[in-house]
Amino acid sequence: MNYESKNEIRQVLETHGITVKKRWGQNFLVNRHAREQIVSMLECKKTDSVWEIGPGLGALTSLLIPAVRQLIVFEIDHGMIRALTAVLGGDAPVVVRDGDAVKRFEDTAKELGTPCRIIGNLPYSSASKIIAKLIELELFPEKMVFTVQKELALRMTAKPGTKNYSSFSVFCQAWFAIHIETDLKGGSFFPEPDVVSSVIAMTPDKKLAAKEEELLFSEIIRTGFASRRKMLIKNLSGIAGFSDEKKRMVKEFLKNAGKTESARAEELSVLEYIKLVRLLLEGR
Ligand code: SAM
Repeated sequence: MNYESKNEIRQVLETHGITVKKRWGQNFLVNRHAREQIVSMLECKKTDSVWEIGPGLGALTSLLIPAVRQLIVFEIDHGMIRALTAVLGGDAPVVVRDGDAVKRFEDTAKELGTPCRIIGNLPYSSASKIIAKLIELELFPEKMVFTVQKELALRMTAKPGTKNYSSFSVFCQAWFAIHIETDLKGGSFFPEPDVVSSVIAMTPDKKLAAKEEELLFSEIIRTGFASRRKMLIKNLSGIAGFSDEKKRMVKEFLKNAGKTESARAEELSVLEYIKLVRLLLEGR
């Protein structure tokens, strides 16, 4: 299939009775250079098992097939799976997982093991859910490369004290080193979205050491950022059983970190959150 031809894409969709669904972020990559660049960023080896999320008609899949040992694709749209199978040929060496990828990761990992790499031109509306789920399940391949809306890429890579810095920034950066590789304008896709996309590369950089650290860390960042305008300490008071002694420890911690008692969640770096978690766990 000629993935750069909008006419051919239209025809394939029509043949299989598919209408493009915005809710599933169906914007197909029609920029040959971008497709090749995204796949080459994944740095696949011939022995790798790779997951692709949202293969669509196969713009990335077709380039991955000859480059890897095993390719598992997650696609929610059954019509798209029919079209993809027809385009790639029925005997293409691809394992298809149908349904919402977020609900299929766990059983697929149990059955086929953790992949070496994960790739996807992700649907805009569920990209953060998909990435959060991979982290939550601790599926840590050697590398992940995703196309996401630029705003999400900026949130995931944001540094403390900036407007994009959120609990999702801290969460992602506690597990991965994340780098924005390039931006793609709407014209790289069909239908053309009215937002800019970024291609991000994520490599594991797990900074938390134990399960109990992970649990408290998640709770602290979730509640810490719950109300951005409130002081961190006020937000943390919302955690069940957050005693006066713990409040005192947080105040002491902030002072030692060179911040005031009224510091807000966005002022602490990822490493400072991890230090705070360790301190609170020691003090139990
Ligand atoms: N990879 C193709 C490309 O680059 O041309 C299609 C990418 S398109 C942006 C996103 C794809 O993800 C669509 O095929 C859509 O049906 C699929 N999708 C959307 N939500 C999904 C989900 N929750 N689980 C699995 N696939 C999903």
